[in-house]
Amino acid sequence: MHYTGTVWRPPFEFRSLLLQVTTGCSHNGCSFCSMYRTTPFHVSPMEEVRADLEEAARRFPETERVFLLSGDAFVLPAEKLLKIAEAARKALPKLKTISCYASVQNVKNKTVRDLKALRAAGISEPNFGIETGLPSLLKDMNKGFTVEEAREQLGKLREAGMDFSVNLILGARGAAPDTNPGADMPEGNASADAWIREKAAADAALMNELLPSLIFVTTLHHAPGSPLHEAVRKGQFRKCEKEDILREEILLLEMLELKNCIFLGIHTSDPVPVAGMLPRDRDAMISKLRDAMPALS
Ligand code: SF4
Repeated sequence: MHYTGTVWRPPFEFRSLLLQVTTGCSHNGCSFCSMYRTTPFHVSPMEEVRADLEEAARRFPETERVFLLSGDAFVLPAEKLLKIAEAARKALPKLKTISCYASVQNVKNKTVRDLKALRAAGISEPNFGIETGLPSLLKDMNKGFTVEEAREQLGKLREAGMDFSVNLILGARGAAPDTNPGADMPEGNASADAWIREKAAADAALMNELLPSLIFVTTLHHAPGSPLHEAVRKGQFRKCEKEDILREEILLLEMLELKNCIFLGIHTSDPVPVAGMLPRDRDAMISKLRDAMPALS
C-alpha cells in the first residue's frame, strides 16, 4: 500500500481500509493545525490507487468500509471519485461505504446531482472539520470558509441524501477576554460564562441547521509548527481551563436539538470521555460531565 508521511483518520474509522488517493491537504492553512505542513498536496495517479486496491483485494478481501486519504480527499472532482469508487467496489465485493475527510470548499465543485451519483456509488459520510459556528472565530482559525458557505454547501449534501459527520473544537475561542489578551472583547459582555455560552450557542445553532449524523468533539490542540502554537508561546492566546471546556460541552449538549445524531467526545484531548445518541443519551452525558467538574476545579 502507498502511504506518504503521517497518516491521519478519524478515530471512528479504526476498522476502515485506508486508501491513499491524495497526499496532504489542499487548504493546509488552519491556524491550529500542522498535520500536513511538511507534506505537499498531491493527487495519487489512478494506477497507484488501482495497485493498492489489488493488494487490498488479496490481503483484506472482507473489507466493508474504505476511508480515502488524506486531509480533504473530497476535493477530488466527482468524476475521479466515481472512478475510485467503481475500482474499489470491483476489488472489494463486500464494500458498503467509502468515506473521507472533507472541507466545505470541496463541495463547491460538486452539484446536487454529482453528490447523488457519489452516494449511489457508495461514497458517503464525509467528515467535515467545521470546528465552530461562530463566524469571527472561524475567520481567526483561517478555515477557508464562512458559516454561510457551510450552510449552503452542506445543505447540498442533505438535499442529495448523503449523511455526513462534523467536527467541533471545544475551547477553540480560548480563555475569556479578561484573561486572554489575544481575544476580541465581545460587545457589552466580557464574563467568562457569556463568552463560553456565545460559542456553544453558535455551534449548536449551526449543528441544528446542518443536521449531521455524527458530531465529533475534540478540545483545542495547537500543534507545534502551527500559527496558534506561536501565539500561545508569545502569550497572545490563552487556552481555556478544563472546567470551562466541560461547561462549553454541557451547554452544547443542552442546546443541540438533533434527532438520531451520534455525539462523540472521546478524543484523547477531551478531559472527560462521553459518547451517546442524541437526544436519548443527552442527560447521561451531561451528568457524567457535571460529576467530573469538581475534580477539575
Ligand atoms: S485542519 Fe484539516 S483543513 Fe485545516 S489545515 Fe488541517 S487538515 Fe487541512
